[in-house]
Amino acid sequence: MSGQARIDGLKFAREGGRLHGEIAVAALPRLEDVVSERSGVIVYTLAGSMNDQSKPVLDVAVEGALALTCQRCLERLDYDLRRRSRFVLVSSADALPDVGAEDPASETMAVDAVSDVADVVEQEVLLALPIAPMHAAGGCRANSEPSPEPTPSPFAVLGKLKKRAAGCRGEHD
Ligand SMILES: [Zn+2]
Repeated sequence: MSGQARIDGLKFAREGGRLHGEIAVAALPRLEDVVSERSGVIVYTLAGSMNDQSKPVLDVAVEGALALTCQRCLERLDYDLRRRSRFVLVSSADALPDVGAEDPASETMAVDAVSDVADVVEQEVLLALPIAPMHAAGGCRANSEPSPEPTPSPFAVLGKLKKRAAGCRGEHD
């Protein structure tokens, strides 16, 4: 196991730093309640740069395969996780912009909040996961559960056109 990786975000951005590695799912404590199996790894890439407004930014990419639990049939669901985020770094929480004043394409973070690499990766993984993961239509074992949705979804309408497949009726949002 590697030690706790830490970065100085401002320096990392100024120097165009790049960090690529893996963290075991088992080493990310906040994932414990989310995954059905604490196996596998999260592959991450951190890249620092200065944006066109000469502000320090940190690009974070995470990916990995996680074993979740389908909320419909309660069986294992293999989830391909992939997320990219861009953070504009500010030197302290006091310098965070007012809500609404932020650039919608990126999020502003205090530099202290990105210093612990495992913490940043863990946060990004949590944000990438669905709130209620479910198997795709046809891939789910639960086929007798009535759907709680009161109005027909576009998928349900589509389902009438097709022969009704056994299994889940798709995602509903
Ligand atoms: Zn399922």
